[in-house]
Amino acid sequence: MIGMVVFLSKLFVFQSLRYFLIGGGAFAVLNIWAREYFKKYKIQDRYQASSRKQIISEIKNSLVTLFIFSAFFSIVLTTPIGSWVKLYSDFKLYPLWWNLLSLPLLVVVHDTYFYWMHRTLHHKFFYGRFHSTHHHSMNPTPFASFSFHPVEAFFEVVWIFPVLVFVPLHKYILISFAFVSFLNNVKGHLGFEFSKTENVLFNSSTHHSHHHRYFNCNYGLYFLFWDRIFRTEKL
Ligand SMILES: [Zn+2]
Ligand SMILES: [Zn+2]
Repeated sequence: MIGMVVFLSKLFVFQSLRYFLIGGGAFAVLNIWAREYFKKYKIQDRYQASSRKQIISEIKNSLVTLFIFSAFFSIVLTTPIGSWVKLYSDFKLYPLWWNLLSLPLLVVVHDTYFYWMHRTLHHKFFYGRFHSTHHHSMNPTPFASFSFHPVEAFFEVVWIFPVLVFVPLHKYILISFAFVSFLNNVKGHLGFEFSKTENVLFNSSTHHSHHHRYFNCNYGLYFLFWDRIFRTEKL
């Protein structure tokens, strides 16, 4: 029990620091410190999160989400449930091709899960109950990256459990995936576009900014596959 609490506390502090340093840092540079320089990269005309109240509420929601994520991983990794998990520490246990391929595969699986979970959350039965929290800002900032209702936060993380139980993953692959996922999330909520948005494979900051602005488009997370197949892409 003590081990679980220590793990949870460390993970929560680490995730919160990462959120404030990288997410908060990006917000400060783009919107405050170098505002004039980055003006030409802005996606929406209005300035992001003009209200301080909005940002405070996004930070509160994000900290609750990060606590839920930390609690989830503490339970899965430090209790007897941990014996079900196929995480490994020695790269030699599996072939090189698996060690190389498991990270991109994880991203593709996450993208697919997210697209369908996200579309479900936009159904009128779920939207007001669990997903409108994330949509409070029509022009999101990186502070909104984890601003979810607690029920949505749970569904944002729980998909990894069957993966951990059934798929062998090196622990560094899991950690790398967590970083990729975090950075992609901050990119989606940046409010500024630094890449090409058309004819690309990847979901751009513009795509997710439009999702917050128009609600009924661009449900994807990393890629555009599902949005293109089901004609939900909008630029
Ligand atoms: Zn949404
Ligand atoms: Zn969003």
